Amino acid sequence: PAIIEIDRLSKAYGSGTKALDDVTLSIDEGEIIALLGPNGAGKTTLISIICGLVTPTDGTVRVGGHDIRTDWRAARRLIGLVPQEIALEPFEKVINCVRFTRGLYGMPPDEAYVERILRALALWDKRDAATRELSGGMKRRVLIAKALSHEPKVLFLDEPTAGVDVALRREMWQVVGDLRREGVTIILTTHYLEEAEEMADRIGVIAKGNLLLVRPTSELMGEFGKKT
Ligand code: ADP
Ligand code: ADP
Repeated sequence: PAIIEIDRLSKAYGSGTKALDDVTLSIDEGEIIALLGPNGAGKTTLISIICGLVTPTDGTVRVGGHDIRTDWRAARRLIGLVPQEIALEPFEKVINCVRFTRGLYGMPPDEAYVERILRALALWDKRDAATRELSGGMKRRVLIAKALSHEPKVLFLDEPTAGVDVALRREMWQVVGDLRREGVTIILTTHYLEEAEEMADRIGVIAKGNLLLVRPTSELMGEFGKKT
């Protein structure tokens, strides 16, 4: 069943920039989908609208059946967003970051769940470390753990490997693979075809606000293969 239903979504910013133009897309529960496109394509705008951070000009978005305009709180609870920038409290312990974020959502404490998430992200051994002691890759994983703290059904990763080296990029691919086994629906954005191919079940190509095509990864790679 679809967890996210985007119907004829458009966004024009005040400046007149048409960032999204009539985008329709349905995302199934448990699916990993990559939104692939160059800078300025509209990827961040699309994610920001689904997460309720930007108001659309036209169209509707439903998350778990909840319309984001009329039922935003219910929709938001189902979503975890991992922002591009790393913003962590430097002296906070890893485990407390996750507990605290969970509390912000009004979720009751659940140490078993916190442990499961930290283990899935290979952070359990670092649970008592202050975030400032962590490597860049570990900090990114803490951001993901925070985004999963309230048990969302959908996780958004906005350019998870922007500005990271090759080793860290591969580590992030691994993390997404591990989360797949947890059954989380994942929507990620990227500039890199290779990255989309590596992580996603389906790839949506977006350019100048238009969703040009959406295909299963295997099918899309097959088509590229034929042409070369
Ligand atoms: P990304 O790194 O997600 O591909 P950009 O580098 O194009 O996106 O932009 C980063 C952020 O800066 C956007 O998410 C948006 O909020 C803001 N931004 C981009 N272009 C403009 C603009 N023309 N006017 C105001 N804010 C902008
Ligand atoms: P992407 O994430 O694919 O790089 P964005 O969604 O950030 O693309 O941007 C899509 C278009 O909208 C770009 O032309 C960008 O400059 C513009 N844009 C993004 N955010 C803003 C904003 N807050 N105000 C005005 N224009 C914006």
